[in-house]
Amino acid sequence: MSDFLTRFAPSPTGRLHLGHAASAFHVWQAAERAGGSVLLRIEDIDQTRCKPDFTDGILEDLAWLDFDWTGPPRIQSEHFADYARVVERLTELGLTYRCFRTRTDMAAETEAAGLTPGSPFTGQPLPAELEAERLSQEAPFAWRLSLEKCRDYLGPEYDRLSFEVCGLDGATRIEKARPGLHGDINLTRKDAPTAYHVACTHDDARQGITHVIRGTDLEDAAHIHVLLQALMGWPTPIYTHHPLVLGPDGHKLAKRFESQSLASLREAGLTPRDVKKLAGV
Ligand code: GLU
Repeated sequence: MSDFLTRFAPSPTGRLHLGHAASAFHVWQAAERAGGSVLLRIEDIDQTRCKPDFTDGILEDLAWLDFDWTGPPRIQSEHFADYARVVERLTELGLTYRCFRTRTDMAAETEAAGLTPGSPFTGQPLPAELEAERLSQEAPFAWRLSLEKCRDYLGPEYDRLSFEVCGLDGATRIEKARPGLHGDINLTRKDAPTAYHVACTHDDARQGITHVIRGTDLEDAAHIHVLLQALMGWPTPIYTHHPLVLGPDGHKLAKRFESQSLASLREAGLTPRDVKKLAGV
């Protein structure tokens, strides 16, 4: 048995579609080749968009495709306290600040700084008095990770952060991490005690994931995940990014393309083999 351990980590915000199937085929294929195993993780931290019915749908679709995973699925919404502890730790290290800004505030700040709209956001905490005032008004805020503080904290290590990327052909290369692509990320959401990057890296470490295989739409995520791993003392897995299945409009498939949901393809009489072919895997 090899020590190769990967995971499939869908978010139950709708039924799985062809794009998810492609991801799942890549994940299970890699594990099979390496003689390793796959864990299933349900990334349902967004409690307004995620529904238990969609989780049931995921299990049903994966069973139809004949995918098997080790142990019970990890349900992220059952572990909010663990993610909150990560944010606490980063705060203890002096690497975070409370951010009360709305999207509009941030766009205005970006413009005022003469940056192109949509540039990664980096900011400063509010002056203590103003912050105390906002807190007393119970104004909602998110914790942000300060890249400036992370750079100070890690010293020369910050510029040496890197990760190993493994192509679908098995060729590997080392990529230099560029956390600046993301700016000061949100560690929490105004409506949840964690954001994706925290929950994902926490779980990858906690579950001992050695290989992360996901779509090219999440290629940039590795650049900030490596930073979180260095700050928290977690190992960095090897990353593989597979091509996306494109919709009729040439864009990444979205859950709103109902016709491409695995449930409707199944109802239309397609077999798992047909789905694999359609997914281009
Ligand atoms: N939950 C994410 C998604 O459904 C995947 C995250 C990951 O694989 O790291 O797109």
